[in-house]
Amino acid sequence: MDGTMKTAVFTGPKKVELRQCPIPQVGKEDVLVKIDACAICTWEQRVYTGVKKVEFPFIGGHEMVGRIVEMGSRVDKRQWKVGERVAVGVMLACQNCYFCKTGNTQSCEYFDHSKHLEGLPEKGMGGFSEYLLVPSENLFKYDKISPEEATITEPLSCVLHSVETANVQFGDTVLVIGCGIMGLLHVLLSVRKGAVVVASDVNGERLKLAKELGAAYTVNPSEENLRDRVKEISGGIGAQVVFDTTPIAAVAEDAIKCAGQMGKVVLYSSFYPDTPVKFSPDWLHKGAVQILGTANSNERDFVRATRMLSEGVVNVKPFVSEVYEFEDIQSALESAIKGDKFRVVLKM
Ligand SMILES: [Zn+2]
Ligand SMILES: [Zn+2]
Repeated sequence: MDGTMKTAVFTGPKKVELRQCPIPQVGKEDVLVKIDACAICTWEQRVYTGVKKVEFPFIGGHEMVGRIVEMGSRVDKRQWKVGERVAVGVMLACQNCYFCKTGNTQSCEYFDHSKHLEGLPEKGMGGFSEYLLVPSENLFKYDKISPEEATITEPLSCVLHSVETANVQFGDTVLVIGCGIMGLLHVLLSVRKGAVVVASDVNGERLKLAKELGAAYTVNPSEENLRDRVKEISGGIGAQVVFDTTPIAAVAEDAIKCAGQMGKVVLYSSFYPDTPVKFSPDWLHKGAVQILGTANSNERDFVRATRMLSEGVVNVKPFVSEVYEFEDIQSALESAIKGDKFRVVLKM
């Protein structure tokens, strides 16, 4: 395909500009995707505000979906065709290290957010562009939902990975701390796993939504003691699983205390600032408690996230808070960083 396209380039903190560049040339192995929508993740918000340090210029956007518009001669025609709607998986894993080779691309040793993707004028994850070259391994079919809803594929895939890391069982008491989009996706998936979900947040509105999404209990820790309440709900033993989705180290310390014997604590969020936390090693030892970390997702998670979304197993409509035209990316970023939305989505 000939012609030019627009891509949004971060040139410094609080600085983003739309640039004209050539539409990438399709090589034998490439699929050219016309991006329909891309959500603004917390990660891009941190790049925009300067909290997350990247080398500028930088093209953000990693929660993107689109349509196949052109395919190279070596792309598998049994699986892919022009016009198909696809979610784009993260293309940052090296595919060659120990972790990638053992099916854990989410933990790639060389995971590089500043990779320079083929066909783009600058480094970065590339989703804030009109077109993107994508290897077919990173494409995942979806249908029956809007592109805006489909942008939730990547967040959902990460949460799916987290919920499986905790191996939630029927009847488990699962505490989800933080009811932003990531916390609420944990609520949704844990409910699907048959858990008694306790959602915790200081924001009453968000607790209301948690309840609507299936949480059995909600707790506002500014009004009641979270640990005591979880103990009470769980018949005195504490939670089998605790998901901490906040970036606050002090909350992680509280999260650990809410787990019962043989409980699992999953630290889902990245931490800003990354302050060390205290826990009792003897309690951990005697209680056989597990503290786990999780980040990102792999191809398997993406396949299942797109299936669940396409078939309506989870409804993510409540998380698309605002939709902006691509040209208005600066306003969209400004709105996103206010922190009162779930996802602000750009429409290309
Ligand atoms: Zn994201
Ligand atoms: Zn790797």
